[in-house]
Amino acid sequence: MKTAAKTYKQLPMLADGPPGFHLLSKPSGSTCNINCTYCFFLSKEALYPNDKSRMSVETLEVYIRQLLESHTTPEVTIAWQGGEPTLMRLDFFKTAVEIANKHKKPGQNVQHTFQTNGLLLDDEWCAFFKEHNFLVGLSVDGPREIHDAYRQDRAAKGTFDRVMKGWEVLRKHEVDFNILCTVHAANEMHGREVYRFFRDELKAQWIQFIPIVERASKDTLDIANSGWGDENGRNRLLYTQTGNLVTERTVGGRQYGQFLIDVFEEWARNDVGTVFVQLFDVTLEAYTGRHMLCLHAPTCGYGPALEHNGDLYSCDHFVEPKYKLGNIHETHMQAMVASPEQRKFGNDKRDTLTAQCKRCEVLPLCNGGCPKDRFSMSKDLEPGQNYLCAGLELFYKHTQPAMRNMIMLLQQGQAPSNIMNLKAAEDERRTADMPCTCRGGKAFGDCHGNPNPPTAFGRITSAKQAILAAE
Ligand code: SF4
Ligand code: SF4
Repeated sequence: MKTAAKTYKQLPMLADGPPGFHLLSKPSGSTCNINCTYCFFLSKEALYPNDKSRMSVETLEVYIRQLLESHTTPEVTIAWQGGEPTLMRLDFFKTAVEIANKHKKPGQNVQHTFQTNGLLLDDEWCAFFKEHNFLVGLSVDGPREIHDAYRQDRAAKGTFDRVMKGWEVLRKHEVDFNILCTVHAANEMHGREVYRFFRDELKAQWIQFIPIVERASKDTLDIANSGWGDENGRNRLLYTQTGNLVTERTVGGRQYGQFLIDVFEEWARNDVGTVFVQLFDVTLEAYTGRHMLCLHAPTCGYGPALEHNGDLYSCDHFVEPKYKLGNIHETHMQAMVASPEQRKFGNDKRDTLTAQCKRCEVLPLCNGGCPKDRFSMSKDLEPGQNYLCAGLELFYKHTQPAMRNMIMLLQQGQAPSNIMNLKAAEDERRTADMPCTCRGGKAFGDCHGNPNPPTAFGRITSAKQAILAAE
């Protein structure tokens, strides 16, 4: 290790590297204290057999130093992810903060982000997060009945109650948090309910929705359907972005779009300017030609993933041998991010668009979506169409009028939240028996026209009750 670190120091810095990038680091590799059935990252343990998957302090220092050296932007994000990063224990992150303070350049601001399943959060963790201004992402998929469908522990027991305890401690210490919710077969029909749960019960102001798309082939589908953990003593299958079949947990393409619309119709009536849904924000930005999220940017390749031992991969979704760029102990990460292979990886996103995408009305907003999901046939029977295309098209077309109105309001120097007044005026002209604006098939009065809709889950379990149940 020490020799490799010396080699790196002798390398020249690249003058033409990108000004910044968003690296996701995995200090505990793919190891996790729970066993979510859809988490294909659990299978990445197969890449490092007989390895404890814990980042050493030496690798930590090389990582943070290189990251800060590589950035010419004043803001640098140090993003902690997993597996489950709390498995590294708190002292590791105390050291990380010290190292970042030691290496940051004058005028550089460092923001730590931390994605967690919440199970190990306690007063000590949350006091630390608050003190060092960490932004914490908490993984929750909805109310208990939905969350526990796939987010289970090794005994196949739901984790909802334990996550709610973690959420309670985050709130107690006033830590900035956002909710990361995956969209899959168990919640795809419940967008509005899931969103209302986050807003009303969890008091979330920042919410991110991520579609679950698990690819498989004819040969791997059965084993993939049983989950990516190693329960039952079966051999672990390494997940790779191959195959054009999907698991039974995977969200339907069109259903993903309908889920987003269901949320959007609630948000645009009540919460513009107070609740921030990542995809809605970045879509609004995309109307001005700026793309804040790699998924819908024309090109990508500025979101590499760092494994616990310093191996750097093209992207968090492509942690597989073919996409390994090198190791930070041997090559500076800036050189790897700027390398011809990585630039090709990013530009292929634009250069491999199907003819259907190229003539699509919403291409400037969607840009064909993430390459990992491009394994379907296009309408012209061309391979490489995005599996989620039907839903993406539905979402972008449906939200166009409201997004354009918000852009117009901004251009007039008004707050985009004034869209809610326009929506209210339109709703006044609508009768209860008219089709709902979400086009989900229900009457307006039984859908988004009803401000207090009944829930499909009997009643949404309140977070407080869940915490009591966990104790
Ligand atoms: S492959 Fe997908 S997730 Fe990875 S950087 Fe490109 S768009 Fe983003
Ligand atoms: S909506 Fe479909 S066709 Fe249009 S750009 Fe996106 S993936 Fe391509």
